[in-house]
Amino acid sequence: MEKTAFVTGSARGIGAAVARRLSREGWTVALHCLRSREAAEMLAQELQKEGGRCAVYTADVADRDAITAAIQRAEEELGPISLLVNNAGIARQELFQDVTPETWRRIFAVNVDGPFYACQAVLPHMLHVKHGSIVNLSSIWGLRGASCEVAYAASKAAVIGLTRSLAAELAPSGIRVNCVAPGVIATDMVRQLGEETMAQLREETPVGRLGTPEDIAQAVAFFADDRSAFITGQVLTADGGFIL
Ligand code: NDP
Repeated sequence: MEKTAFVTGSARGIGAAVARRLSREGWTVALHCLRSREAAEMLAQELQKEGGRCAVYTADVADRDAITAAIQRAEEELGPISLLVNNAGIARQELFQDVTPETWRRIFAVNVDGPFYACQAVLPHMLHVKHGSIVNLSSIWGLRGASCEVAYAASKAAVIGLTRSLAAELAPSGIRVNCVAPGVIATDMVRQLGEETMAQLREETPVGRLGTPEDIAQAVAFFADDRSAFITGQVLTADGGFIL
């Protein structure tokens, strides 16, 4: 069975760690970026040096035509996609009363519409061969809710609804859909909160450290292949005990 993965937002952060891990586990990886083309090209070189097969695709996941075309190009160049990782996402902290309709819409466009478009783009082949895996990135805030991150938390709750519903619809077609809900992971998304907040979050994490992108990559890789063959529609929380 061919092993080609498309990982959205894989130039940096969690997506880059997922791409590295999948490549080291023998997957051909379609790297994807929006603004970080240079970082994506560097990662591609790194993976190719290790013997990996990959290529870089640029598209805004919120632009249906652009992400669909990127996935189609990846399928032509690398082979049919059997694993989609919907990782690209944006977050923003502000009081609910300050959230503009434009901010609300953009967060949902990237975090929810993006996975919707990407899923529709990979499904024709997966349905044809009755095989495939989709892994979505939600968040502990999507499970629990978060003050000053209402739009983000709501969008990540929507990702869980998408995961469970699509899993039910696609299970008879041999396609699994699962979700990873990370806790606080040391990436640019969290670094923008500042050192003081990061230290506080570290303290609040029962295992005593922030998560690493690799911690999340392990969970994604588990859902990618037959190690999780009987598991679909699930949300795996990887948060060092944060929301216990
Ligand atoms: P980063 O902010 O470090 O990276 C975000 C990634 O998303 C980048 O690769 C970026 O690409 C991509 N991206 C953003 N907007 C778009 C867009 N419109 N189109 C295409 N790509 C886009 O985030 P993380 O690595 O921390 O997060 C990855 C995922 O994990 C997200 O979905 C996030 O919500 C989720 N998550 C993260 C947590 C954390 O603590 N870090 C906790 C819980 C969930 P580029 O740079 O090329 O523009």
